[in-house]
Amino acid sequence: MPSFVILEKCDGCKGQDKTACMYICPQDLMYLDKDKMKAFNRAPDMCWECYNCVKICPQQAVDVRGYADFVPMGASCVPLRGSQDIMWTVKFRSGMVKRFKFPIRTTPEGQAVPCPADWPTETDDIKSPMLCTEPKSMGVDTFPTLKK
Ligand code: SF4
Ligand code: SF4
Repeated sequence: MPSFVILEKCDGCKGQDKTACMYICPQDLMYLDKDKMKAFNRAPDMCWECYNCVKICPQQAVDVRGYADFVPMGASCVPLRGSQDIMWTVKFRSGMVKRFKFPIRTTPEGQAVPCPADWPTETDDIKSPMLCTEPKSMGVDTFPTLKK
């Protein structure tokens, strides 16, 4: 289910032009109401539920109602980012609380290398029939190719 902002917690990123949630959303869904200084998801039906806005919000003001397979109904699942890890707190309906801590990527912003130098980058690879699937999964040793 899509993200939503807990208005009592949101401080509009203290009036910055582009809030953290606006910066991070890959769908450009988050929007700041500058009169109220509260952000909101302006197109919930377009939300991927990627949790980026949930994780980046410094006020823990964004939530996503997680699916029951990992967040049982009625539970909440709240992340808290640190410089080296992220801690998820799951609070169940019964009041039981469980916390999970995971390391996070620490590559400085803008420094990530999307394609290491020794990876092939030839665009011809995109045309290769090998990208369809492995030949053996089709019961053949090689895929037929067009004769030139
Ligand atoms: S990142 Fe959090 S505090 Fe900042 S505007 Fe978005 S919801 Fe509000
Ligand atoms: S969950 Fe992802 S797609 Fe949805 S509003 Fe947040 S950042 Fe955007």
